[in-house]
Amino acid sequence: MLDRSSSECSSMQSTWHALSEAAAAAALQVEPRQGLNAAQVAERRAQHGRNALPEPPPRSMVSLAAHQFRSPLIYLLLAAALLALALGHARDAGVILLVVLVNAAIGTVQEGRAERSMSALRRLAALQVRVLRDGQEQALPAADLVPGDVLLLAAGDAVGADARLMECAQLQVAEATLTGESAPVAKALGPLPEAHGLADRHNMVFAGTQVSAGRGRALVVAIGPHTEVGGIARLTSAAVEPPTPLEQRLARLGRALVVAALALFVLVLLLGLWRQLPLSLVLMVAISQMVSMVPEGLPVAMTIALAVGMQRMAARGALIRRLSAVETLGSTTTICSDKTGTLTRNEMTAVALWLPTGQRLSVQGSGYAPVGAVEGSEQAQVQTLLRAALLCNDAELLPPEEGERNTWQVLGDPTEGALLVLAAKAGLDLAAERNQARRRAELPFDSETQMMATLHADGGVWIKGAPEAVLGLCPPAARASALAAAAQLAGQALRVLAFARVAADALEDWEALRGRAQLLGLVGQIDPPRDEARAAVAECQRAGIRVLMVTGDHKLTGLAIARQLGIAGPDSRALDGQELACLNEGELQELLPEVAVFARVQPAQKLRIVEALQARGEVVAMTGDGVNDAPALARADVGVAMGLSGTEVAKSAAKIVVTDDNFASIVGAVEQGRVVYGNLKKLILYLFATSLAEVLLLLLALMSGLPLPLAAVQILWINLVTEGTVTVNLVMDPPDGDEMRRRPVPRNDRLLSPELLRRVALMTPLIAGLSFAWFAWRLSQGADETLVRTETFTLLAMCQWFNVLNCQSATRSALRLGLLRNPWLLGGLSLSVLLQAAVLYWTPLATLFHTQALPAPTLLQMLVVASVVLLAEEGRKAWARRHTGAAGA
Ligand code: ADP
Ligand code: MG
Repeated sequence: MLDRSSSECSSMQSTWHALSEAAAAAALQVEPRQGLNAAQVAERRAQHGRNALPEPPPRSMVSLAAHQFRSPLIYLLLAAALLALALGHARDAGVILLVVLVNAAIGTVQEGRAERSMSALRRLAALQVRVLRDGQEQALPAADLVPGDVLLLAAGDAVGADARLMECAQLQVAEATLTGESAPVAKALGPLPEAHGLADRHNMVFAGTQVSAGRGRALVVAIGPHTEVGGIARLTSAAVEPPTPLEQRLARLGRALVVAALALFVLVLLLGLWRQLPLSLVLMVAISQMVSMVPEGLPVAMTIALAVGMQRMAARGALIRRLSAVETLGSTTTICSDKTGTLTRNEMTAVALWLPTGQRLSVQGSGYAPVGAVEGSEQAQVQTLLRAALLCNDAELLPPEEGERNTWQVLGDPTEGALLVLAAKAGLDLAAERNQARRRAELPFDSETQMMATLHADGGVWIKGAPEAVLGLCPPAARASALAAAAQLAGQALRVLAFARVAADALEDWEALRGRAQLLGLVGQIDPPRDEARAAVAECQRAGIRVLMVTGDHKLTGLAIARQLGIAGPDSRALDGQELACLNEGELQELLPEVAVFARVQPAQKLRIVEALQARGEVVAMTGDGVNDAPALARADVGVAMGLSGTEVAKSAAKIVVTDDNFASIVGAVEQGRVVYGNLKKLILYLFATSLAEVLLLLLALMSGLPLPLAAVQILWINLVTEGTVTVNLVMDPPDGDEMRRRPVPRNDRLLSPELLRRVALMTPLIAGLSFAWFAWRLSQGADETLVRTETFTLLAMCQWFNVLNCQSATRSALRLGLLRNPWLLGGLSLSVLLQAAVLYWTPLATLFHTQALPAPTLLQMLVVASVVLLAEEGRKAWARRHTGAAGA
């Protein structure tokens, strides 16, 4: 079928469900137990292309540049240029155009930078699938699927292409995206009538849907635009993200400044007329001043700040899927973390056995190497227990190989791998046992039932799972002593599994097993805490962030690990799922402050925990990996999915994905979130303080009867060129180092906070005062007006350079921070200095900007005067450090 023409191929597409499994496999020329080989994959890739919908091309430099000219600011400037032309100042009109061009060039470069980093990050978050190729299971990006690929499906996987099922065990698929049906659909094998519509094609799975339970194996029949969803979704994939709350607040601030700028325009105009200055001159200055007030660089700076934050987070193991997560991370007040694999290493070792006779036995050895004695391994009871452990198990134990891999390794769930190691230590032959007792059916593990069962050819069902769950299937008499033993093991921080057996030759559902299971024993496994998790928990506590453990594991296991990590103190409580279910909202609210561990929680209860915390005003980050965690992840302020163990469903519901599953990476992301916010505030401080300083200088001059201190084009230059080269780079600042010693950023924190305004109140009058004093003093000496204006213009630029240094930190000395920590800022400052030199000393520019070359001694004098701006802030910082105990120099 694949070698038919493509039109024939697509006409066949809708009839795959009518074929038998064997006919479908034959048509696709693939052996479902083996998969395609490399040559077939290459050939089919060449023929069918990638499994992706055509993406809109990235914006070109030209369209980015064109975009720069579509802003009210530019219209204003162009109006000013026209006005200048009309008034006969052709030269000024030219300069305004020049400034517009330079500013547009800077904007284009910055926006291109922002765009590139964003698209690089989008690529990181690609969908992953598992396939069988050359008889080997492989994980690959969904885009690499070709027709005929054997897709392996398990709960939580996203279906990467349309595919015909070959095998299916309790497989259920959520197809709401495709059919609108909200309940998961149970899948089955066997050909169906050709007339069946999409929703009834139970022997097929479709791209864009998610496996909610069970497992399956399916042959890819259609990819990319030829899938069912490909027809509908062509446009949705390109959907743009709505503005984040911070972007919205920034936009509001921007609008407020525009209003202020308009008011200022009127004020300057009136003052100028009152002073009886020439209308054309006043008009030009008023327009320039108005343009200067508009924080045109802010949106781009915001995007770059977020993009830089995303890059830094990615470097530390946290991929951002939603831009808004960057800012929310900085405000996070509570982190609810999984235990296994996130706070612990997920390197399980079985260390203890318990038999229903009451015997407790120990196991020697460490790691996955099957060396070490199992106490009592010769007993028949122990042998049966370990057969259960090995048969009711999906993991593989791989011996070391020469070369790169020289240790024993586990493929699959470490909990299960440790059981294989245990069985091998006791002398069971894994391969022989598994061959002899082939699996005929199974009820897969899920975190809802917390157990799994398998039916084998040698007769009988083996069960393993959480003790409470497994004992629920056993006659009541067996329960009390086993539960006590389980609690004892759990109290020693062990993860406990119970094993049972049912004599049965069918395995349909859990109900059928109830009351018939015979308990075989318990196994306790250690899973040591991650070393870095302890430090990260302490860091959170210093940073005013509460850490809660939310685990499917036993309450006592959870509490013991939580104590080791410092999450739980001596008075902390653990609540388990059952207790939680008995509490009403009020009671839960009351208990919340004392709880450190939520144990044996059902995924649905995670949602309740998130909502309860949010009701207390907390900003909640919640981790999750399973398919059932998706609602809680979506509801949390920051849903965190696990990159290694997480399902695709969890990842697509989450706002960030932690690539190494490590708690410390989440904390690292929180720190970066705070850095991003801090950097934006630095930028706002700088923009606000300097624009106001220029305004103040102008007003002072107008009111005191002196001439205008700056030419209109000089005002534009200072704002669009001197500032433009510097400001955006301020958001590239590295962490101050004390981010995690402050409280979380309140969610409704004001961008222009009182603290920030206090700093403005020092900087602005100082810069304006110094420049005005210089201007007045030099005029009183009878110096030439053009020269004095040039000096004032340059002094103002110098004050701004020093002020950039001030804005880098609220408490730390700029002299100690130095410039090398932010090469971007250093580059921007150098460029700014060079451009200022050019405008003073390069004749063509000097004529355009009405400047004169300044002699070195004057420059030096001015530099000394401008440095007062730095010294004053240094003084304030030293005072602040002493009086508030803020982080030291
Ligand atoms: P967590 O990830 O928080 O440790 P899980 O949901 O993975 O919690 O596990 C909850 C409980 O389910 C465990 O305490 C264990 O008793 C049981 N369990 C875990 N993995 C398996 C498995 N593969 N098969 C059977 N039972 C399991
Ligand atoms: Mg788990």
